[in-house]
Amino acid sequence: METTLAIIKPDAYKDGNSGKIIDRIISEGFTIKEMKQIHMTKENAEGFYEVHRDRPFYDELTNFMSSGNCVVLSLGRDNAVSKWREVIGATNPEEAAEGTIRALYGKNTGNNAVHGSDSAENGMIESNYFF
Ligand code: ADP
Ligand code: MG
Repeated sequence: METTLAIIKPDAYKDGNSGKIIDRIISEGFTIKEMKQIHMTKENAEGFYEVHRDRPFYDELTNFMSSGNCVVLSLGRDNAVSKWREVIGATNPEEAAEGTIRALYGKNTGNNAVHGSDSAENGMIESNYFF
């Protein structure tokens, strides 16, 4: 079983979409290994997105991620990383396939409802960051 990290971001949390997203996680066959609600500090968010430090959106992203509550989930499944990225859709909700979580609940490229790890290795590193 592979591990991926999911985050219900502050936009989706504020909009009251956490329950629907957790239902979707379960119906897509993921096991919730760990789950907690957190409000990241700016430093927590900066550490999590360290890989994006040199990108122009780093400050906007880390301000957003520390702007309110999130739900962080460590998920297990066969092919968890690619399956979760399939379920969430493209980074830009306008480009995300119909029915994906970002198409349903995301607003724009920054406020795109959920996070998903990009590799099995990062799934473990990111889960260990929070749990
Ligand atoms: P993904 O979350 O799909 O893996 P990235 O790893 O490229 O996407 O980016 C991490 C997060 O940074 C995105 O989910 C999004 O919230 C934010 N982001 C990415 N690109 C932009 C951008 N051009 N402008 C603002 N925010 C962005
Ligand atoms: Mg990414």
